[in-house]
Amino acid sequence: FSKEEIINIRKRFPILSEKIYGKDLVYLDNTATTQKPADVIEALADYYKSYNSNVHRGVHHLSQQATDAYEKARKKIQQFIGASLPEEVIFTSGTTESINLVAQTFAKDHLKKGDSVMISAMEHHSNIVPWQMICEEKNAKLKVIPVTENGELYMPGFEKLLDKTVKIISLTYVSNTLGTVNPVKQIISKAHEKNIPVMLDAAQAVQHFPVNVQELDADFIAFSGHKMYGPTGIGVLYGKEKWLKKLPPYKGGGDMIKTVTFEKTTYNDLPYKFEAGTPNIADAIGLAKAIDVITEIGLHKIHHAEQELLKYATGQLKTIPTLRIIGEAKEKAAVISFLLGNAHPFDTGEILDKQGIAVRTGHHCTEPLMDFFKIPGTVRASFSFYNTREEVDALVKALRRIDNMLN
Ligand code: PMP
Repeated sequence: FSKEEIINIRKRFPILSEKIYGKDLVYLDNTATTQKPADVIEALADYYKSYNSNVHRGVHHLSQQATDAYEKARKKIQQFIGASLPEEVIFTSGTTESINLVAQTFAKDHLKKGDSVMISAMEHHSNIVPWQMICEEKNAKLKVIPVTENGELYMPGFEKLLDKTVKIISLTYVSNTLGTVNPVKQIISKAHEKNIPVMLDAAQAVQHFPVNVQELDADFIAFSGHKMYGPTGIGVLYGKEKWLKKLPPYKGGGDMIKTVTFEKTTYNDLPYKFEAGTPNIADAIGLAKAIDVITEIGLHKIHHAEQELLKYATGQLKTIPTLRIIGEAKEKAAVISFLLGNAHPFDTGEILDKQGIAVRTGHHCTEPLMDFFKIPGTVRASFSFYNTREEVDALVKALRRIDNMLN
């Protein structure tokens, strides 16, 4: 982006002009959650101010208006990820719920004793624990694709693990801790040769580059609204129609039924079969607005800008001799995990905070990955297209000072 473009982009995100301890906010925790453009904040307020109503049930005007907006949001997401049908887009509360939904419903008829589920060593806890829970219940095994020292999947390990016991693979597209972009297309095609479905945790993918579910041929993908400039509490599960039809309902309640008697209940068609109860109408509308903003700015331009920042930040950080970057995959999203000499990540993060610089420290919900690298955690700086080189410079300058203090 040009200087002028970036100034205008930043103006759209009100929080970016906040002061923290009297200093300019430098927000480098975009992997945890992204900031919200005024467009999204206004879309939420507009819904509550002028057409708040429950969906799908009312004959009255407002209910129609809310239903239209909610269903339009679904179509917008369908287009955004290149799904063939709007019914393949299920609204959930986020990536975590989307993964739990698939784990629980898939396990019912497709997982039995002796079977296995394949994940990788760089998964977020939310793509480990739901599978672990159903494996325990079904007496199935978890197979874990190993990672290499530079933070990539060890592909010979993947091929070795891909045996007849594997019933589903669930894999992160982009690592939230290392930034690694995994070769998911290759993995999906290898898995499909053996008729094994693949779920992608795309929580750290959809905001960084175009993701097309049909091109990837993914069976399921999950992502969260709040990591793509939308509201919290809303997320998406995409599933191929053939799979969503096959899987049993997840939660029971209103909206997910066709008819109810005490003897027998029949279930609604897709997507409602998986949307029990009043959905998160406002936040679905807010998410659609976030997609408008992303689309208007351009996902290709966003990708380019973030890659430039990643390159610049990596180069600048490497000028600090004690700084060690964890995860140097060939293909990365704009996420940099690092350690500063012997300084504890938490101390580094706390001192950065006093400068108004927001980073994340700790295990980033990837404890097994930290165990692999034999470290307690990292400092993680994660960038969005609204970040600037000046902000990278502020980070590097502050880190130099901390390095002198703590090392
Ligand atoms: N997977 C990945 C790769 C993530 O980065 C996150 C959020 N940090 C999640 C899953 C979970 O997302 P949520 O908390 O929005 O459900």
